[in-house]
Amino acid sequence: MNIRIAHIYPDMLNLYGDRGNIVVLTRRMESRDISVHTDLITMSRSFNADDYDLLFIGGGQDFEQDVLLDDLKKGKDTQIKKAVNSGIVVLAICGGYQMLGKYYKTYDGKVLDYIGALDFYTEGREDRMIGNYAFKTSEGIEIAGFENHSGRTYLGSGVEPLGKIIKGYGNNGEDSTEGVRYKNTFGTYSHGPVLPKNSQFADLLISKALQRKYSTSQLPPLNDDFERKAHRQVMKLYM
Ligand code: GLN
Repeated sequence: MNIRIAHIYPDMLNLYGDRGNIVVLTRRMESRDISVHTDLITMSRSFNADDYDLLFIGGGQDFEQDVLLDDLKKGKDTQIKKAVNSGIVVLAICGGYQMLGKYYKTYDGKVLDYIGALDFYTEGREDRMIGNYAFKTSEGIEIAGFENHSGRTYLGSGVEPLGKIIKGYGNNGEDSTEGVRYKNTFGTYSHGPVLPKNSQFADLLISKALQRKYSTSQLPPLNDDFERKAHRQVMKLYM
């Protein structure tokens, strides 16, 4: 089996080592004899979503999000939308997550018109939401992460939240929701990177990609003693 990953804007959107998510996905697949090929989709490089099984977009600051906008509109927006709608696995973090929505209004009033692949919008405020946080997905997976954003995201009726806040702010600090979920698209504010601390979440993404491509979601278990210990430890700190 082979999984092809498109890493969108790897150089511009890589806050807090978000590319570590690709490392974890790759290691966890290769340990199960699934080969992985990753293409770095930088600015000005075009890509076709149909060539990939998984798209990853990291987080950035308002500055990078603004700079990327022109490039995004030259075709990557259409391909990302296609990926979302055709059930390709998409993992998007913070600024990358915000890009999937309709728009992001920065705290100083600039409106960045985004892809609109999903039914939500984000509005920034001067005070930022920063800190270690935790949330629980609808499957009951407890995810420990780190958030730092000024944007408040408000979900529309066409999408589900990725999880419910256990501790911290999440989407907006008001409605206890965190992230977004639609088909096989997962958006989250969780930097860190998120997957090394949350191997169950990594396996959920891998199993969705395998299900879509090979109609199997069975993953042989790995020795996750360290990962589970690390996860339990950070969850304790967060409580
Ligand atoms: N620019 C966004 C915000 O501050 C995203 C920040 C991030 O990716 N950490 O809301």
